[in-house]
Amino acid sequence: MNPKNLIYKQLEHELYLYKMMVNASLDSITLIDRNYTYCIVTDAYIRARQLTKEDILNHTVADVWGQKIFDQIIKSKLDECFTGKTVSHVDAYEFKKNEINYIETIYTPCFTSGKEASYAVVLSHNITELRKSQKKIEALAYYDSLTSLPGRPLFLDRLYREISIASRNGKSVAVFFFDLDEFKKTNDTFGHSAGDKLLASVGNRLKKYLRQSDAIARPGGTINLDKNNNEDYLARIGGDEFTFIITDISDKKVTTAIAERILNLFKEPFKIKNREIFISTSIGIAFYPDDGNDVEALLKNADTAMYKAKEMGKNTFRYYCPDMNKKAVERLKIETKLRYAIKNREFQLHYQPQYNIGTGQMIGMEALIRWEDKEMGLVSPDDFIPLAEETGLIIEIGEWAINSACRQGKIWHDRGFQNLSLGVNLSVRQFFDPHLVDKIKSAIETTMFDPAFLELEITETAMMHDTERAILIMDELKGMGLRIALDDFGTGYSSLVHLKLFHVDTLKIDQVFIRNADLKGRDGAIISSMIDMCHKLEIKAVAEGVENMESLRFLKDHNCHLAQGFFFSPPLPVEHFEGLLQ
Ligand code: C2E
Ligand code: CA
Ligand code: CA
Repeated sequence: MNPKNLIYKQLEHELYLYKMMVNASLDSITLIDRNYTYCIVTDAYIRARQLTKEDILNHTVADVWGQKIFDQIIKSKLDECFTGKTVSHVDAYEFKKNEINYIETIYTPCFTSGKEASYAVVLSHNITELRKSQKKIEALAYYDSLTSLPGRPLFLDRLYREISIASRNGKSVAVFFFDLDEFKKTNDTFGHSAGDKLLASVGNRLKKYLRQSDAIARPGGTINLDKNNNEDYLARIGGDEFTFIITDISDKKVTTAIAERILNLFKEPFKIKNREIFISTSIGIAFYPDDGNDVEALLKNADTAMYKAKEMGKNTFRYYCPDMNKKAVERLKIETKLRYAIKNREFQLHYQPQYNIGTGQMIGMEALIRWEDKEMGLVSPDDFIPLAEETGLIIEIGEWAINSACRQGKIWHDRGFQNLSLGVNLSVRQFFDPHLVDKIKSAIETTMFDPAFLELEITETAMMHDTERAILIMDELKGMGLRIALDDFGTGYSSLVHLKLFHVDTLKIDQVFIRNADLKGRDGAIISSMIDMCHKLEIKAVAEGVENMESLRFLKDHNCHLAQGFFFSPPLPVEHFEGLLQ
């Protein structure tokens, strides 16, 4: 073959391969000359445009896309490309109705001579699916899946943005911080899935309120939120914590009205799984710039104010003021110390004896916890049990207490004081701990303390939250052979229905009726009726807080079974209590 022909054949083959390769690409590729005319188009492009090759090849871009799109979008990109620059951009197209496609297009200049580009290679690909998954990831990262509200990062971002705007314009921003009251209890009582539903319903109710434009109306106009999307400024930033920003506002009359309306929203129960659940919220409010200059300080101070609202009895709101911080710091310090105390075993039990009033004999003792802190000294349970309860630390502390008490009880039984009963206090959180029964079983097994002498002291308030479940738990406990005492009777609900429902063995009459009691007056009448009732129900009555002979004589005259109080002995550490036993 003529060598020229051979080269020609080779070139032709190479060209064929090039064409195949370019056509095989899934991206659409076109070559456009300086007259904006299509010179080469790939199969992918033809498919994507749903036109024929003849409709495109040798036609101008304006012919194919329409003059408007050419003028507004494409021409400038091509012109820039012809000056030698690579240009890329993303456009949204609606090829079919209601079906938005995102197309990324890259214009690459193609030089045939000198500096001027003669052609533009235009490569485009559909990134709609990529966009969709990006959006999904964003939603997962920035929005809370339970309530569909913005999560913490997005909220912080928005607050940051609003603070920047406010600082430029010399305006203020109000930050509302809500925390549901006793949500943990609701969660423990009704279960986690009901808890989740409750959070979602709370989110919806708040959203609905904030969506209504009149909700934030104020005299002389409306608050400038995100113009039409107020609910965007609502977020769920933690378990049962919600936040909300209002911009361009410093008038406390307005924020007070909003806080009051929000509290009112919680007056109606939430319908969850065919049940009506009542829950309230506590709200803290802090302002930029008065209460903090940055996101962190504002959020922290709104949180502090919320804690103050809780301290004031919950279901209310408070504005931040600087001296609140001192108390919050103090609280946090104790909480940290408490965690440390669990690790370091800084707790001990003291024991207070209980006496049979008729015979004068000691019949048992109540274990009462003490915390020995290096700095603070001996801390009373009244000062740390509520905090331990709130933070959940009580579960671990309580488990330690029941084990130590049973171990000590067993030692005394083994020393010959076999008939001593042992009272151990249980808090609400412990009582509804799903592992309570197992933990008590394990304490009895490992210490070998006879459960017939173990008496768990529970307050009526603890059992109020979910009577049905309380009865089941109590039955299970009693099935193990131990006894139940109703502690602090007379201060809470003192409901006779509860006495009927809960098969308690002992009723502990609260100290308020006995300490400094007016025995000849109303106090005396109340005590004697409670004792009578116990006799009729065949429940043992224990009088707490017996401090003097006069009280004891009164109790004896009214046939009260047992007594406990400073008149006999305060709670004592183990060594001193052993002195009493001798
Ligand atoms: P409580 O169960 O009602 O315990 C009786 C409290 O009254 C004890 O206070 C005791 O020291 C005090 N007391 C006893 N006799 C008298 C008296 O004659 N006069 C006066 N004024 N007070 C008397 P304490 O030890 O400070 O305990 C306070 C509360 O802390 C307890 O009240 C109980 O609710 C809780 N607590 C104590 N130990 C534990 C524990 O191990 N676990 C749990 N969950 N709570 C505990
Ligand atoms: Ca008690
Ligand atoms: Ca008590």
